[in-house]
Amino acid sequence: MIATIDEALAFLSGFHDAYVRACIADDAEVSSEAPRESPRTWWAALLPYFWDMNPVLNYGHRVGADGRQVLLVAAPPVFLVHEYQHKTRGQAFQVFVGDHKPDASTYKYCVHVKPIEGHGLRIVAQTLACFVCRTTGQLNLRSPPFNARRFQLGDRCPECKGSGWLRQPREAPGALVEVRTLMAPADPDHLAHYEQAAQNL
Ligand SMILES: [Zn+2]
Repeated sequence: MIATIDEALAFLSGFHDAYVRACIADDAEVSSEAPRESPRTWWAALLPYFWDMNPVLNYGHRVGADGRQVLLVAAPPVFLVHEYQHKTRGQAFQVFVGDHKPDASTYKYCVHVKPIEGHGLRIVAQTLACFVCRTTGQLNLRSPPFNARRFQLGDRCPECKGSGWLRQPREAPGALVEVRTLMAPADPDHLAHYEQAAQNL
């Protein structure tokens, strides 16, 4: 099975809608006195989008004007897609998205999507934009304070070992065959990554 970037984006859009519904349902379930269903409703609803990994919910609250808790969850912005082809492992997409919060405008996750024979597109890994080097792989002026005796500006980031991303799968995705830019991120370091990717178009 071979998928297009549009199909990968449609799959992810469906997942993000399901994710927002799952957060709303979980929030309602947590705040109600009713006994929990087993397995948890959200887990069962999101599991069909994944392969070989479990879904995780991540949402927050803020206090509204009336003093009640307001759920903070939204479909994340989608910035960029990379399509890869590997000799033996086949096709893979990496989709760079923001946080599941209203008005998110910087990278948060890179979602790894693959066509799985007989199962359609699935999420196989989710990496996290390094919060220290902000995806640059190097300590820079926007990195949080670091031990100046041990590290200097421009050093390889000790948090992500220079990859710019955390929880990176061990297996490389293969050769980059296509890039699709959708929306520029606001963070200057993330924007540099995005513009570099745009040059590969
Ligand atoms: Zn880093």
